[in-house]
Order: sequence, then C-alpha cells, then structure tokens
Amino acid sequence: MAVRVLVIGSGGREHTLAWKLAQSQNVRHVIVAPGNAGTANNEKISNSAVSVTDYTLLAQFCKDQKIELVVVGPEAPLAAGIVENLTSAGVKCFGPTAEAAQLESSKKFAKEFMDRHEIPTAKWKAFTTPEEACNFVMSADFPALVIKASGLAAGKGVIVASNKEEACKAIQEIMQDKAFGAAGDTVVIEEVLEGEEVSCLCFTDGKTVALMPPAQDHKRLLDGDHGPNTGGMGAYCPTPQVPMDLLLKIKNTILQRTVDGMRQEGIPYIGILYAGIMLTKNGPKVLEFNCRFGDPECQVILPLLKSDFYEVIQSILDGQLSNSLPVWLEDSTAVTVVMASKGYPANYIKGIEITGIPEAKALGLEVFQAGTALKEDKIVTNGGRVLTVTAIQRDLMSALEEANKGIAIIKFEGAIYRKDIGYRAISFLKRPRGLTYKE
Ligand code: AMP
Repeated sequence: MAVRVLVIGSGGREHTLAWKLAQSQNVRHVIVAPGNAGTANNEKISNSAVSVTDYTLLAQFCKDQKIELVVVGPEAPLAAGIVENLTSAGVKCFGPTAEAAQLESSKKFAKEFMDRHEIPTAKWKAFTTPEEACNFVMSADFPALVIKASGLAAGKGVIVASNKEEACKAIQEIMQDKAFGAAGDTVVIEEVLEGEEVSCLCFTDGKTVALMPPAQDHKRLLDGDHGPNTGGMGAYCPTPQVPMDLLLKIKNTILQRTVDGMRQEGIPYIGILYAGIMLTKNGPKVLEFNCRFGDPECQVILPLLKSDFYEVIQSILDGQLSNSLPVWLEDSTAVTVVMASKGYPANYIKGIEITGIPEAKALGLEVFQAGTALKEDKIVTNGGRVLTVTAIQRDLMSALEEANKGIAIIKFEGAIYRKDIGYRAISFLKRPRGLTYKE
C-alpha cells in the first residue's frame, strides 16, 4: 500500500526531495512543510504550515495525516534533534540524531573526531577567547589562515584571511561582535588548503557506505568564482575531476572511516553524509562535513538515482543498506543553474512575477523552486535563490546547453545567474586525465 511522506524544508533541495519521493510507486503523497510555490498544489505534492519546531504538534500532525516517513532537508532541524524527538514519539524520521549531526553543527567536534580517526583534514586549533585566538594568529608561521565559527552559521561563518590583520578582524567579528551569534563562541583556525573543491556524499545506515556520484557546487556569486560567497549558484554531477579510483580513496580514507568511527564511539551516524573535500596535491582532505544533502548538489545528484528513493531510505532505516545498494544512471550528467534575485546574497526585493516555468518544463527540464510563493495564482519571487533549472543529458556539454535554454525562457525582473557552471570540468576534460591529482 502506498504511503504518505513529509519533507521538512522550503528550498530547491526540498523540492527535489519531494519530486523524487513522489516518483516512487510506494509513495501516494508528499507533504512539504513549509515548502514553496513549486511544492504547492502539485498532483502528488502539497504544502503544510505545520510547525516543524514543536515536536509534539509535529508528531501529532504526522499521526493525523498518516505520515509513514519524515525526510529532513536542512541541517538546523537535525542539529535541533528532530530525528530523535519524532522517533521517540513513534514517527519514522530519516537523518542523523543531533548528537551525530555534530559532525556539521560543531566544527570543533568534527576536527577532534577527524584527528582521532586519522581522517585527512587541514591542521587546526580551537579557541574560546578572542585574545588567545589573536595571539595564536600573530605567532603563527603561515601567512594565510581560515577562521571559522564553530557552530552553525548558515554557511556564512567561514572567512579565508589573506594576512594576520584580516584574521584578527575576522576573530573580532565572530567572537566579540557576535556576527553569527553563539555559533561564534568557539572559533576554529585552520591552515589554508589549496586545490579544487568537490562534494562527495553517501547514504549510510551506520555501517554500510553507499557512494553517490560526486558533484561540484559553485559558491561564488560571479563567473570565474569571483564575488561574494553564496549558498551555491549551480552544480553538476558527476565531476570528471573525481574518477572512480579517487572516489574509492575518498570512500576509504574519509567516508567509511567517519561512519565506522562514529559507530565505534557509540554515536551511530545514519542518513546522508556529505564531505566537502579539497583535492590537494597531497590527496583529498576534508573541508567540512554536512549532515544532509547540499543545495544545489541535491538538484543534480537525486535526478541520477535510478533506484526507488523511498526504498533506499527504508533499507537505511532497516539497517539493510548492504542488501540493496542504490543504483545510479550511467552515462548521464546533470547540471543545475540557480536563478537568484537581484542583490542576492545581500538585500533583495520579493514579490516579482516569474514567467516561463511551464515552457521550460515542456522542454524536458526540471525546474526546482526555492524562494518562490504563490500570489493571486501567479508565481512570484520570495527569496534570494529563487529557483534552479536542472538538465539531464548524456554529457556535460549537452546538459549545459539544455539548462541554458531553460534559463533563457524563465524570466523575472533582475534575475541573476552564472553563465560558467561546469567550467572547471570543461577545462579538466581538455587535459590529459589522471595527471592532475596523481600522488
Ligand atoms: P566550510 O563551511 O568549513 O566548508 O567552509 C566554507 C568554504 O570555505 C569552503 O567551501 C571552502 O571554500 C572554504 N574553506 C573552508 N576551509 C578551508 C581551508 N582550510 N582552506 C581553504 N578554504 C577553506
């Protein structure tokens, strides 16, 4: 009998989660809380305004609505304990517990854990007072340093400082001016890693690691990786820069070691584990862990999942992932391009009408909505990142071409987007393979 599922969140990632779950023959309906215009009034998908922070209310909602499974999109509810709270109320919830999600919610926890388990990462030190942190910076013998708020800062709590003065200024902003609130009570200071950044994710039931194809995000606002950092302006999957031998090395030295280490420490990690990785000349090293899908990586990884997503989650919750490893589309590349509001990632206005979404979908593209809302039957902008256009084709160049057709059709005043998504892969493919990351 087909079931009802609840997805928590409101971005492009959550639209993708709902879209993929809705394709399952096991799933009758997906409710998204709070969702966006893309998840409202869909044939199999609808929105709910139920509170996602009051677990008593939420558990009751799930029982009343006969929800069989809750899938959590963003990190904040996981770090706040949604999984253990719903589970103890008798509602199945997919994702790590708050204790396990510390791999993302406390950079200090993650760094100490990686050191204990010899997982390759940047050299680091943690501080709880700005004086100690600045003294360390002044006496350090490396010119550039990365200053990180240890707690969750919505992807904004990291400053790469090119000299000691900049580093001390960052420490003041994080620790004294509390730019990221209590997330900055502890700072982690790291050496700068150089190389190309990739996102390597896996499903895990706490024992087995099932790799997803690797992806690459584009964090900066402008072409050529210039301008301010954003939530992510586009992605593609798989990344040719991570061939299978390198991916297996990342699995063995990072992902499997993390899952095994967490289990051995009595904090089993169940759900999606995301390692942000720098491909350095000394091998892959962890920049950060996330305890959920990335956004926009989700928009390019999930469309390549051939298996039934609901069944994959069930096998994880049953601890049976090794018996039903997910299968991925081969010979396919997915590209997603984010369209954002003018002014993003700083101030932007909302409420601008968006046209062309049905026309882009008619071309066979997926349009995953993020900062959108319905206003008098029209779709209007309601956030910084407004939507992502995903194309799936046999190769990267064709997928880019298709995605750009969608971007050209979808219109809203002041829309901004990057025109060079995938440029690193394109230049990699022009080089002789295997040369760049050979150790
Ligand atoms: P994090 O949230 O820790 O991944 O940091 C956000 C971004 O800062 C990363 O995606 C990298 O682009 C950059 N970053 C973080 N740590 C380092 C590092 N040790 N060296 C160079 N860049 C870094």
